Order: sequence, then C-alpha cells, then structure tokens
Amino acid sequence: MKQLIIIADMEGASGIFDSNREACWHEELHPQNTLWRSYGRDCITSDVLAVCNAAVEMGIDDILLYDEHFAGCREYNVQIEKLPSIVRTFDLPNREALWSRIRGQAAIDPYGIITVGQHARAGEENAYFPHTIHTPPIDSFYINGLHVAEIGQSVMCFCGVPYLANIGCAASHKEALELSPNITCITVKDSARAWEPSCGETYPIIFNGVIEAIEDYDNKTAYPFQDHCVCELKLTDTHYFEEPDSFPWKGGFTKDCATWETHDIETALSLFWHVHEYIRKK
Ligand SMILES: [Zn+2]
Repeated sequence: MKQLIIIADMEGASGIFDSNREACWHEELHPQNTLWRSYGRDCITSDVLAVCNAAVEMGIDDILLYDEHFAGCREYNVQIEKLPSIVRTFDLPNREALWSRIRGQAAIDPYGIITVGQHARAGEENAYFPHTIHTPPIDSFYINGLHVAEIGQSVMCFCGVPYLANIGCAASHKEALELSPNITCITVKDSARAWEPSCGETYPIIFNGVIEAIEDYDNKTAYPFQDHCVCELKLTDTHYFEEPDSFPWKGGFTKDCATWETHDIETALSLFWHVHEYIRKK
C-alpha cells in the first residue's frame, strides 16, 4: 500500500490574499464572517483536490489528510466530501494538533508527505499572512537550529518520510527547502510580483506539479530522524512567560524565551503546548 500524508493549512491557499483575508477566518470563531463558507473553503478544497487527483493518477492508494487550519474548530476547512473516496482524515478531537496521535495513526513507513495551503514563517518578506503557529505571541520556534512553523512541525513529525512537495505562497518554500532540499515547490501566489491567480487557474499547476514530484520520487529526501531535540520558543515583545513553580521537564524559562530538550520529535512538539500555557500578555 502506498500511503500519502497531506497536511493542509489555509493562509497559503490559492485565491486568498490580503484583499479578501476574511476567507481564512473560520466561522466557529468569526460567526459574522460569511466569506470562509461562501468562498474560502472552495479555495483550499480545490488545492487539496488537485493534490489528491494527481496522487491517485500516480498510483497512490491511501491518503491521510490533516486539515490543521484553525485547529480546535470542529468543522473542516476542506470539503472532504469533494475528495476522492480513498482520502481519510485523522481521528482527532476538533482537529487538534496532537502530533503523537497523528503520527500513530499513519503507517510506519508512509510513501511520502505533501504540504499544501502553506504560508511563510513570521518575519519573512513578501509573504501572505506570515506567522509562526500563531504570531503574536510567538516570534519564533526553533528545533535543532531550524525555525519551525506549520510546515516544519508537520514534516518533522513525519521525519524519515520522503517530503515530496510544498504548495503555497512563494515565500513559504524557504522553510520547506530547509527541511528537505529536493522537494518540489509549487507556487500558487506571489506577493513579490503581485501574482494573484484564482484557484481555477492554479488547479492544473498543482496537479502537474504533484505528478512531476512523484515522478521524481527517487530524488526526494526526508527530514532525517532525530534522537535529540533542542527546542527554543521565543515570544514577541507583547508577551512574556510566567515561570511555573515546578517544571518537570528538561529546560527552563526566561521572560521572553522557553527552552526544552527531548529524545524525540513527537515529545518535543507535544511539550510545545505545555510550555505555551505559561504565556501571558503584557
Ligand atoms: Zn492556518
């Protein structure tokens, strides 16, 4: 069985720009906003469908999709019913980013991983909605020297699995290439050259790009397995850490930075949310 992992975000989807940014705002947290349902979902669904259809064409027979945008909201951004029948979703309460649970539900050796709808990290130039997981309060998150945002979290969670393609805003590819230099980069919008096509225009670009990525499978590489993770979470100047009295893991806090060390990536990513509980607004 060839299992493909697809990780979908939404700020980097086709058709969503600064001018219609509300298309990204999930209805469960923004009940007054109608653009997410009337338009935004169609955009990310088109991008994910292009990936799935290309994968099926190339002989993939099992697809596991994680729809990570507005994790914590129940309803999917992607219209799952429009995808091929071989697509399954991870079993997660309200699509929460429970990385151990996500990794545990996938095959031991998935065929590959593809990221789609992806945006750039906080601080990147010429980017649509650049942020690191959520900025503010997060300025940066480093694991073993790499600045990790949504792309990095998911690809590191699937370390050892060939990383085939990243689809999203042109500025998002920088993070993807740091994780795996041979991935196929498929751009669906580019702020630097004001290129803002519709999702109908990018569908064939994504479809053909994913076909090429899978045809080039032998050249693809994985983010390597890590048995020691050193993590560093820095805050923007609007927030600070309130250091807890007892701190049961290896690491520590300063006012604007938390550090921790683990023996594997899943634990490193899980501890992120524990450390996160000590963030306070100034
Ligand atoms: Zn998102």
